Amino acid sequence: MSSVELRGAAVKAARRAYAPYSHLSVGAAGRTTDGRVLTGCNVENASYGLTLCAECGLVSALTLSGGGRFAEVACVSGSGEDLTPCGRCRQLLWEHAAEGCTVNGTRLDALLPQAFGRQDLPYGTDARQGMPYGSDARQELP
Ligand SMILES: [Zn+2]
Repeated sequence: MSSVELRGAAVKAARRAYAPYSHLSVGAAGRTTDGRVLTGCNVENASYGLTLCAECGLVSALTLSGGGRFAEVACVSGSGEDLTPCGRCRQLLWEHAAEGCTVNGTRLDALLPQAFGRQDLPYGTDARQGMPYGSDARQELP
């Protein structure tokens, strides 16, 4: 799928958004390194703070479809204008992005310089390694 087609998928997703409060429909589409194309849209909430950005849905779709890494992401409004992800979503995308991943043509590492990542955690890339209650402790937490 080309970048233009990816943007088209994001626009289509934006048109399914639930945005009765801000009236800003947002769609995100991501192409994974293995060629899957996934989408998400924003879902607002009357309490505002619980609103889910389009990128939240996109990352959820990635996980639901088996995981992997994004090679390219498009974030747009319902009318097709580029929208840059908010700070939280840059961090969400970072966790699931391949090296060199772009968002609307800009490298994600430029949008989120000196990003916090798994490498910054005490146990490195395997968060369960070295946990005091064994490797399955995380799954036992409420
Ligand atoms: Zn966001």
